[in-house]
Amino acid sequence: MRAVVIHAPRDLRIDRIAAADPAPGEVRVRLAAGGICGSDLHYYQDGGFGTVRISEPMILGHEVAGTVIALGQGVTAVQVGDRVAINPSRPCGHCRYCIEGRRQQCLDMRFYGSAMRFPHVQGAFRDELVIDAAQAFPVGPDTPLQEAAFAEPLSVALHAVAAAGSLIGKRILVTGTGPIGCLVVLAARHAGAGEIVATDICDPALAMARKVGADRTLNVGSDPGALAAFGADKGYFDLAFECSGNARALAGLPGVVRAGGAITLIGLGSEAPLPVSLLVTKEITLRGSFRFDGEFAWATELLAHRGVDVRPLLTDTFPLERAVEAFDLAADRARSMKVQLSFNDHA
Ligand SMILES: [Zn+2]
Ligand SMILES: [Zn+2]
Repeated sequence: MRAVVIHAPRDLRIDRIAAADPAPGEVRVRLAAGGICGSDLHYYQDGGFGTVRISEPMILGHEVAGTVIALGQGVTAVQVGDRVAINPSRPCGHCRYCIEGRRQQCLDMRFYGSAMRFPHVQGAFRDELVIDAAQAFPVGPDTPLQEAAFAEPLSVALHAVAAAGSLIGKRILVTGTGPIGCLVVLAARHAGAGEIVATDICDPALAMARKVGADRTLNVGSDPGALAAFGADKGYFDLAFECSGNARALAGLPGVVRAGGAITLIGLGSEAPLPVSLLVTKEITLRGSFRFDGEFAWATELLAHRGVDVRPLLTDTFPLERAVEAFDLAADRARSMKVQLSFNDHA
């Protein structure tokens, strides 16, 4: 079967790999759709991010959905023919964090398409994938698998929003309106936010944020002072979600979040100087949010019933063979939001 393999920065190939049979407790899934994530793009463009670097060829991809085509011994929770979103997160289940219910912090995590450990954990952009039955989350017969493939990034957004507590009636700021920022907008709207303002430096991305529920968007590239007015009376926003990974965006937040408010950091990548004295005197909570855990089941359910509508975010789909084109387009924020690969022509 075919797989999308990163060999070195800018060296992305369609390789042939062997198919495996499902062991007891496993199922084989024929993939239909796979979303290209920011981390996939980092491997493609730079060979990794921070200290995480590819040092052997690695199959990319972790946002996938498909159809169960074979069952290993003893599997009863899913059936052949079930259409499923695949949870790419494989925590060990017995380290201290797994036991205390923070499985996204597992000490021995095997997350698809990640070079954080060596040998790297191979990813999911391939025709077929053998998974633990517990990684398969059925979406029912009617949900397009392109939408089901949003379960992973939606889980990331739900994890961040859930950690922030009640959003009902709150004033929300989302900085960075790429796929995760837009999914945070969707999740915040779903969670009852009163007003959502979003910032970015890319007008098409801001237009998308409005389409999925932002009340107001500001281009802080063309107008760097656009947030200044929100600093009056010790700040306007109850909660901020930093999704850009940009140091300037983060540094601006303590000024516009109200006293007693909270900032949740989702975007990776900035080692940012922070106005710490403002955090202290305004008693602002600063928290990180990484990946997800139980939110995957919640995300699958929401997508299956279209409780949130992710369809506007899917801007392009390419057949697996044209993965290089797909990655180049996904890297161009002015022309795309979420780009997916389609497998097996049956999505
Ligand atoms: Zn992702
Ligand atoms: Zn663990």
